[in-house]
Amino acid sequence: MKSLKLTILGALGCLCFLEIAKAQELNIYSHRQPFLIEPFLEAFTKSTGIETKVLYSSKGLAQRLKSEGRNSPADVVLTVDIARLSVYHKFGLLAEINSQKLTDNIPQNLRSPDNTWFALSKRSRVIVTSKERVAQGEIKRIEDLADPRWRGRVCTRPGSHVYNRALLASMIAHHGAEDAEKWAKELVSNFARRPQGNDRAQVKAIFEGVCDVAIINNYYFGKLKFSEEPDQRAWARSMNLVYPNQGSEDRGAHMNISGGGVAIHSKNKEAATKLLEFLTEPASQNLYGEINFEFPVNPNVEPTAELKSWGVFREDNLPIQTIADLSRQAQMMIDRVGW
Ligand code: FE
Repeated sequence: MKSLKLTILGALGCLCFLEIAKAQELNIYSHRQPFLIEPFLEAFTKSTGIETKVLYSSKGLAQRLKSEGRNSPADVVLTVDIARLSVYHKFGLLAEINSQKLTDNIPQNLRSPDNTWFALSKRSRVIVTSKERVAQGEIKRIEDLADPRWRGRVCTRPGSHVYNRALLASMIAHHGAEDAEKWAKELVSNFARRPQGNDRAQVKAIFEGVCDVAIINNYYFGKLKFSEEPDQRAWARSMNLVYPNQGSEDRGAHMNISGGGVAIHSKNKEAATKLLEFLTEPASQNLYGEINFEFPVNPNVEPTAELKSWGVFREDNLPIQTIADLSRQAQMMIDRVGW
């Protein structure tokens, strides 16, 4: 009898040990690339002893998480752009996390009202202009891109890309659907060429004289400026960066986020929450700027000196959730105007 008891206790102890051992490893599904994520995770493991395993993919992770259901090994999801976070949210793949630290470190407009997704860094969608062909101060607002003076001079990537869709969603939020669509239509009529390529390709087009004005995410300027490829550094030298909508009565530059959440079926929610919290602490917040020219979300952390050297600017504080809510409407508009 005694030995049976001991066996049972031993088995239970063994199970508990397995549980503890399992809790010390977090599985991360990441849309973000290794060069950015690995330095964070190394620091996290160093500070907490929690090991991490990452599945990297730019596409299909939400579908995978969905089909894995309760058996999914995923604990944390990391991604860029509210559009992608919204997909996880819409499929019910994110757990509600109530963390004082996340609430303290992330402004309210940058997290979901139901505490399922959290911004971890910010990026601004900016205007870039040709140093040679556009005078400083000649264009100041996103709205100005619709002005006939820019006829045949504007380049962008396709409108249906999440970055542009979010920008148009912000225009709908601020101006209403009718005016936003009018703007989008006039913007399209100013294009120098059919929308194509990524954000970097728009700077290349400015360098090559294809267009004079373009829209890109701010961090691409840093990536080009410090690129290992001399060509790309030359593209960066050919442009000026303009944070739009900076007038004293204006709303500030459009912002988007990178972010994450805890997987709904995670068996390690506590450790997963710890990772999200870790990413909002000052040391991690600095890394987003150092490695990828992104802005901190934590209001107690300053942007890097390099970022500040591009100009200090005011941000549009539109709740990111509003952009998510308007994205379908924005996409239909993009289809209608042929962006
Ligand atoms: Fe990007």
